[in-house]
Amino acid sequence: MSSSLHDKAVFDALPIPFDNSYVHLPPQFFAEQAPAPVAAPRLIKFNTALARDLGLDADALERDGAAIFSGNKLLPGSQPIAMAYAGHQFGGFVPQLGDGRAILLGEVIDRSGRRRDIQLKGAGPTPFSRRGDGRAALGPVLREYIVSEAMHALGIPTTRALAAVTTGEPVYREEVLPGAVFTRVAASHIRVGTFQYFAARGDSDSLRILADYVVDRHYSEIKDRKNRYLALMEAVAERQAALIARWLHVGFIHGVMNTDNMTISGETIDYGPCAFVDTYNSATVFSSIDHHGRYAYANQPAIGQWNLARLGETLLSLIDPSLDTAVDLANAVIKDYGERFQAHWLTGMRAKIGLATEGDDDLDLIQALLALMQQQGADFTLTFRRLSNLAESDDGEAAFATSFKDPASAAPWLARWRERINREPKLPIDRARAMRGVNPAFIPRNHRIEQAIEAAVEDEDFSLFEVLLKVLAKPYEDQPAFAPYAEPPQPAERVLQTFCGT
Ligand code: AMP
Ligand code: MG
Repeated sequence: MSSSLHDKAVFDALPIPFDNSYVHLPPQFFAEQAPAPVAAPRLIKFNTALARDLGLDADALERDGAAIFSGNKLLPGSQPIAMAYAGHQFGGFVPQLGDGRAILLGEVIDRSGRRRDIQLKGAGPTPFSRRGDGRAALGPVLREYIVSEAMHALGIPTTRALAAVTTGEPVYREEVLPGAVFTRVAASHIRVGTFQYFAARGDSDSLRILADYVVDRHYSEIKDRKNRYLALMEAVAERQAALIARWLHVGFIHGVMNTDNMTISGETIDYGPCAFVDTYNSATVFSSIDHHGRYAYANQPAIGQWNLARLGETLLSLIDPSLDTAVDLANAVIKDYGERFQAHWLTGMRAKIGLATEGDDDLDLIQALLALMQQQGADFTLTFRRLSNLAESDDGEAAFATSFKDPASAAPWLARWRERINREPKLPIDRARAMRGVNPAFIPRNHRIEQAIEAAVEDEDFSLFEVLLKVLAKPYEDQPAFAPYAEPPQPAERVLQTFCGT
């Protein structure tokens, strides 16, 4: 998978030492496509720390960032391609989607030896653009920058933000908006929909090549397993179950969990109409295009399972020559996913309420809190953060109770919780510290994102965007100077709907 020694020696001195592998797969996997130049690019953000982690020459990239991260200047070693994929969108299958506005510049091996993709999003049309213009608007670019970096700081697997530029060109949506290009870094951009693309064409040779590539790149530990394709499905099930549990622990709603937006690596990808729950309700939906609540907060684990089933369908012929046997094996993995998810979710929820040991009534205790929060309109994030403070002193009890419409309603649950944590071996001070390490003070609150986007789009004022990035880089620290950013929206500030970036 690595390029020749000769190539490496040449590229090591370059700002991005590309070491590409996907472009060496057969031609049906992608289309060669250079970015389309833009009029007047301006670098508005560059992630120096990430650039260093990736082993890039951060100084050189920042100096020339406007040209490089707009796609105006292609660096040596880059072999730009648009990847082919299909996908189920809101349950309906589309046999050809593909990168309609994203261009993979190439791959690098980061400082911990992991292969990472570097991709421009909004870099112009590709053969997969269909009726789209291949471009991105500034608002969604800033949203993806803020939320993906916040997810990373929260410790949740995610694609990353390396840079954002404005293009100096308008994009035409329902209104005219400033154009922008986002530079995304990912463990890979292979999706469930990538498998579906070949399955839909009955191209089993390509499917096997893709599956082997994925095992090599993301799951090398299963390489020698007797049934490696079944093991692949299990490994993906495990990462997705763990990922979606983590989303629920911080109140994240992805918003468009179509199979083309679900990575094989287990990273969160495609921050479109995503949003965080504020007032807790398990049925919360923000996306303007999710009319039936298919991707509501509490539906996400089940959708993960549905998407896994779609992946399983593509792998059947590789799993076993007998269809019946293959179906039985794949079904067992799909069933196990439910248990895997439940285990990850419960472990994380125990930690959120300060339990380091397992008790028979823990699930009930957790569900009782969630039910109370829902009934009493409590803010998801604040409730758990305030509970963390309560774990070491009784002082915060009033503050905790104010999260609930009727503050007195919290008392019976708190009494039950105290009785339970008194059976825990940890010292209160350690418990509180552990709880603050899993219950963030700061999440990318929807109204704050909207404020930052509005200032940038209307006034070219990026100061709120910068502040938000700074605060969200340390979500588990109190940061008293930024206390207002921990607060839920005022009624007039509440964001009721979010929109796709397209
Ligand atoms: P998304 O909803 O962002 O996951 O995108 C779904 C599909 O639409 C993907 O194939 C995208 O590449 C494509 N797409 C989204 N926006 C555009 C655009 N502005 N131009 C071309 N293709 C797009
Ligand atoms: Mg997508």
